[in-house]
Amino acid sequence: MAHIEDRTIENTTINRPSLGGRSSKPGSRRGSGSVVLKSGQTLAYHTRTNDEDDLPHATKKTMADYLRKYESIMRIITEAFKETLEKGLKEHGQVVPMIPTYVFGWPTGNEQGDFLAVDLGGTNLRVCLVTLNGSGQFELTQAKYRLTEEQKHEDGQKLFDFCADCLGMFVKSQLEEDFGKLKSGQELALGFTGLPIKLTALINDTTGTLIASRYVKPETKIGCIFGTGCNAAYMEKIGNIEKINNLNLPADQEMAINCEWGAFDSFEHEHLPRTKYDIIVDETSNKPGEQAFEKLISGRYLGEILRLVLCELIDEGVLFLGQETYKLENPYAFDTAFLSLMESDPTEELLMIVGIFTYFFAIETTLAERQFFRALARLIGTRAARLSACGIAAIVSKIGCLDEGCSVGADGSLYNKYPNFADRIHEGLVAIFGERGKNIQTHHAEDGSGVGSAIIAVTFQP
Ligand code: ADP
Ligand code: MG
Repeated sequence: MAHIEDRTIENTTINRPSLGGRSSKPGSRRGSGSVVLKSGQTLAYHTRTNDEDDLPHATKKTMADYLRKYESIMRIITEAFKETLEKGLKEHGQVVPMIPTYVFGWPTGNEQGDFLAVDLGGTNLRVCLVTLNGSGQFELTQAKYRLTEEQKHEDGQKLFDFCADCLGMFVKSQLEEDFGKLKSGQELALGFTGLPIKLTALINDTTGTLIASRYVKPETKIGCIFGTGCNAAYMEKIGNIEKINNLNLPADQEMAINCEWGAFDSFEHEHLPRTKYDIIVDETSNKPGEQAFEKLISGRYLGEILRLVLCELIDEGVLFLGQETYKLENPYAFDTAFLSLMESDPTEELLMIVGIFTYFFAIETTLAERQFFRALARLIGTRAARLSACGIAAIVSKIGCLDEGCSVGADGSLYNKYPNFADRIHEGLVAIFGERGKNIQTHHAEDGSGVGSAIIAVTFQP
């Protein structure tokens, strides 16, 4: 695996190994074997089961060289990212739009009340009943509904009807369960459910996460989402948001900015290194050229990147010869959750990976193949986390909080469930900033968007 990783770091492409030499010793405590590189060179690999790095001893030095090179690429990306953020504050219509949210300033932590929240994500719809108790405390009951592919692509009316149905079902179930609680404090009226619900605030999930994180953890300065998509928000002095200077808002007051940073490097593709697989993901997507940063990072795409590598190996007759592979050849058939499972497989024989391939794709795999798949997942997941670190570092450097330190509240399945995602972000921050990078820590902002919208709704209550 490590050699594959070496080559990748050197070329910033995932090189195609031939898995012809499948020679993992049966019963060996260590995975080992050989891969034939494109150049024709054969490399032995050897994976220690309990080592995070999985470095073969012979190449440690060169690996360190590659890492240094990588770190400088990360710093260059961070710098370009920061400039892009600044541009977005200056002028309307920039690639990274830096949207003014009109959410003014931080919550105090003492906000109180009961609120309903509906969170429409790229994969899930969540309906929550949030009780803010003050002192940074909250309680939350939620129901999660998975959106179907049709719902994501059909006309909006049907989707909103579905939201209303879910909201209605949730409220009814809550009324049955806990009548007293729901009755107190709300007038519930969106009209369509026949229930008295009043729409108070409409908020972006990332802005919500920023506000919710701060409510719970006063050191918070940045909020991030790593789910189907990825995004960040932070608090900016109004005077620095040059593009809205004409509104004559108090320059010293603060306003949350929804960066929509997933758009970084869109169209031009001048800052982020992309592999040919990334280019296929982009060109076959419904928005080619757009969301360039997000396409390297978020849950919607990571599984697809891995799938494209496998498909290429299938096409070239290297993998799964003689097996039916049509299930795997379906675009987006390989969920990012599989990468999480593959990386966290605790068994020597990688039985979890056996399960994924047999159960979902009816494909048999060898141990050497599974080790390669896991290595691939690790590369894709690590790259996503390290690029995320570049985005966070850009905001940290923009607001100048590196020495003082801060916390970054993060939510979304990728952040919450992908093994080591947070640690890899932290490593990335150290790679960019050196030891001072440790001043920036991320934490899970639980149900950030729901809690955040409740907090923001408090401000807008009559
Ligand atoms: P939403 O984006 O709708 O708010 P989530 O935050 O749950 O929803 O993110 C959904 C995305 O996370 C999907 O792209 C899915 O593939 C991915 N995902 C779901 N479970 C996991 C997991 N265990 N590990 C990594 N990614 C996951
Ligand atoms: Mg979400």
